[in-house]
Amino acid sequence: MDQPLADKVRVLDAAGRRLSPCTGERAQGLVDDGKAEWADGEIPTIRLRREIELPPPPVPPEPPGKGRRLLLHACCGPCTTYPALHLRQQEFAVSAFWYNPNIHPFAEHERRREALRQFAGAIDLPLIEWPDYEMVEFLRAVAGREAHGQRCRICYRMRLERTAQAAQERGFAAFTTTLLISPYQDEDLIRAIGEEAGRTSGVEFYYERLRRGWSERGRLAKVHELYRQDYCGCIYSEWESRRGLPKD
Ligand code: SF4
Repeated sequence: MDQPLADKVRVLDAAGRRLSPCTGERAQGLVDDGKAEWADGEIPTIRLRREIELPPPPVPPEPPGKGRRLLLHACCGPCTTYPALHLRQQEFAVSAFWYNPNIHPFAEHERRREALRQFAGAIDLPLIEWPDYEMVEFLRAVAGREAHGQRCRICYRMRLERTAQAAQERGFAAFTTTLLISPYQDEDLIRAIGEEAGRTSGVEFYYERLRRGWSERGRLAKVHELYRQDYCGCIYSEWESRRGLPKD
């Protein structure tokens, strides 16, 4: 039986499985060659006379964290919310790490640390805290290089190198940082310094575009009633923020 030529014809194999459609001309050719027959129905359809062996469905990729321990450098409670939960979804066994000698004054450092403890307690997140407050080392390291971009490079390096060291000493497979979530930080520079610290320590720096979770971070911080700071951390950023000074 000839069918009027259609633009697209549905194709079934002998077992009734749907295959890729073909043109009406191609369908009629298969029927004329005895390889298929027209099937009843409103949609033009041919049924092949043989079964087609289909490739197995693709196997979904394994989550990157599968069975791996990751040390998450945590800069504050709010910025830890989305990254910690997201990395857990990636099946990392996540621990947080507190080391932020760039947060001044000490009372502010303690307030942010307390917010992190609060969140870690709420989600049973193991938390490792660096025992010392190395504010003096930080200020010495940035002395003479206080301009915004210059001092931030030093600040990232101090924190990421310490995290890499802690990860290496404690047998973590990877480390990363909550700094990656913030649109106010230099993501490319953080990544470059993290990867360098990873090569030196032999522990992988795990990079992911965490900024996609920025608004979710805000929501979670509200849900958990976490303290939210209004300046980056160092005395210079506090001064810039209060005075509305340009950053460079
Ligand atoms: S502005 Fe923020 S990132 Fe830059 S040095 Fe200060 S605390 Fe560190």
